[in-house]
Amino acid sequence: MLQRFYLCVDRLIKRLTPHLIGANLTRCFSPTRLVAGAAVALTLCAGVQAQTQSINLYTTREPGLMKPLLEAFTAQTGIKVATVFLKDGLLERVKAEGVSSPADVLMVVDIGNLLDLSESKLFQAIDSNVLSAAIPAPLRSNDGSWFAFSLRDRVLYADKSLQLKSFHYEDLANPAYKGKVCIRSGQHPYNNALIASMIAHRGIEQTEQWLRGIKANLARKAAGGDRDVARDILGGICDLGLANAYYAGQMKTAAAGTEARKWGDAIQVIRPTFAQTGGTFVNISGAGVAAHAPNKAGAIAFLEYLISQPAQNLYARVNFEYPVRQGVALDPTVESFGLLTADLTPLTEIAKHRKEASLLVDRIGFDR
Ligand code: FE
Repeated sequence: MLQRFYLCVDRLIKRLTPHLIGANLTRCFSPTRLVAGAAVALTLCAGVQAQTQSINLYTTREPGLMKPLLEAFTAQTGIKVATVFLKDGLLERVKAEGVSSPADVLMVVDIGNLLDLSESKLFQAIDSNVLSAAIPAPLRSNDGSWFAFSLRDRVLYADKSLQLKSFHYEDLANPAYKGKVCIRSGQHPYNNALIASMIAHRGIEQTEQWLRGIKANLARKAAGGDRDVARDILGGICDLGLANAYYAGQMKTAAAGTEARKWGDAIQVIRPTFAQTGGTFVNISGAGVAAHAPNKAGAIAFLEYLISQPAQNLYARVNFEYPVRQGVALDPTVESFGLLTADLTPLTEIAKHRKEASLLVDRIGFDR
């Protein structure tokens, strides 16, 4: 599936060791223990309880997606997770909190957000063999400050009547699709990263032509969310557009009769590729230990849990994302979208063009 992506990957598999605190708590709550020596056991329990660990997680990820992961982590390790969900302004908040920030783990989507946190020195470098063995080098920072835990491919949603075997991102500017394209804002991080990637592939001038071509093809203003592409295809407003693959997984498996299911059923999903490289654009979600983490050990335990087989399975099954860990099965719906051949341009290289991409979107009035 991701063979090309993993060509240079160290395939060493490390087994996770059970976390001590989890073992203590399990013993603590064992009924036989409590019956066998109530007084002693209760005293011991009180001692362990007083030491019960918790970590503070700051994340921009949707609570519904995180809940199963957090519950499973606590069940396995006994470490509780207090979560602060921040749709916007995570970086600003952690920065303002400074050395007294209670954040232990910072978790975001998009390489740009990870690099912003890293460049603002809001992560600290950690050394974890578990993480470096399971996460391919291109999917983590060189200095151990951030790590990717899932891959997110940006794909084509198209009306089912369209006869498309394959598609290049460049094709979206083809005049044949005039008035037929729906897409969200060019300034949204998902599109910003894709446009930055096109700049990395073709340079700024060709990317400008491409983006102007898409703008000329728009059926409606570049706005809304990724799911709205499917909604508007069903509504007959447009025939095709770009969106992240996991939303298609969510919609196509939504309960029968719901709006989301109708939108999902209206589309076919095709993995576009860059014409030059034959690879599909893939972004990441990731996390790192906060610079001033009060519970650094707990934070590392959490990151090591996220790359474990069960957690990666949850990423695939609950979030419909591509797991980073090798050997984890995909969600069947996502698998039905066909093989993913990821573009191999390093994300850190693409991220250098984010600013140019944003200026370009403004210059051509893409969102107007
Ligand atoms: Fe999303």
